[in-house]
Amino acid sequence: MIYIHNATLYTPSEIIDHGVVIISGETITAIGPQGELACPAGAQSVDAGGLNLVPGFIDLQVNGGFGMDFATAPETIWQVGENLTRFGVTSFLPTIVSSKPGTIRHAQAVVHHGPPSGYCGAAVIGLHLEGPYLNPEKCGAHDPANLSLPQAGEYEQWSPSSHVRLVTLAPELPGSLPAVRTLIRNGVLVSAGHSQANYTQAQAGFQAGIRYGTHLFNAMPAFNHRQPGLVGAILNDDRLTAGMIVDGIHIHPSMVQFAWKMLGAGRTSLVSDAVAALGMPPGEYHFGTRTVYTDGSSIKLSDGRLAGSLLSLDQALRNLISFTGCSLPEALSTVTQVPADLLHLEPWLGRLAIGSQADLVLLTGDAHIARVWVHGQQVRLISE
Ligand code: ZN
Repeated sequence: MIYIHNATLYTPSEIIDHGVVIISGETITAIGPQGELACPAGAQSVDAGGLNLVPGFIDLQVNGGFGMDFATAPETIWQVGENLTRFGVTSFLPTIVSSKPGTIRHAQAVVHHGPPSGYCGAAVIGLHLEGPYLNPEKCGAHDPANLSLPQAGEYEQWSPSSHVRLVTLAPELPGSLPAVRTLIRNGVLVSAGHSQANYTQAQAGFQAGIRYGTHLFNAMPAFNHRQPGLVGAILNDDRLTAGMIVDGIHIHPSMVQFAWKMLGAGRTSLVSDAVAALGMPPGEYHFGTRTVYTDGSSIKLSDGRLAGSLLSLDQALRNLISFTGCSLPEALSTVTQVPADLLHLEPWLGRLAIGSQADLVLLTGDAHIARVWVHGQQVRLISE
């Protein structure tokens, strides 16, 4: 049992100063003001030093990091997961960019097999398949040779029980709408991305069940007042949540502010879209079958197209606050409650509440990571 005291608690309904959280095993069993909750006999007492105790972060789009690329070597997800905790990430969706079916099956098998014994890193809550049903005209850094039209025999097998949680596809492709309907029935969150969809095609996708937009603004037609396209359709539909890469490079800070005014905290999901070069020095890295280059600020193909990001999720959180002027609780929801609810993981994940999984982050006043617990276990933060 762990007794964390002297913390500022961010619960879904209120902020509690001088608060206490009690963890039993993997679960939060008590929350309240310090005066009302004594330390149980035998519990480990942790003084939070007045810092902010918040739910662990959930990243819906991580391609790799620390020199490892999931589409090249799916078995590296656990090594990356152990490193991601330094950014406050306690759950993530390893993301497989457009790949051959064998790579997707390999990734499913790795997740199915589970982490190595003694694993103490961010939990893998399923895969995000970003492709291969993408529009070749908006494939970004994905290898065009790996793209395909939706194959019923393939996507019918994708579900949370086969470790697929999120699929990004282009809704305008022939066969995409039946794929969306099947995936939704299977319990998979379907997202529109890497797409040329116009407004009407996007709406048809939403009608079929698409509820998420992958990296809003990136790899979709530019927002235009005569042709609002997928961007306009996402912003204008309250059922949709948008993923955003808030590194100040993928989207101009003023456009983050604009989108935030439309979406608010409830419809925004910050993602890192991190690639192998995250946490690594400038140089050359793998991105699926492609070679990408970083100068330490962004990561690109040789032709200059962006290929994922070097962003950490805690930096994205700080950037969102800086770009929009939003409050810490608003920013926090975009990496906690919003992704948890999208994946129907509530009430276990994404909130500091009794009965929730004890995935917790202790944040300094300027939103830097001080301590992290995953499933009730404090993890050793691997320093950069
Ligand atoms: Zn992408």
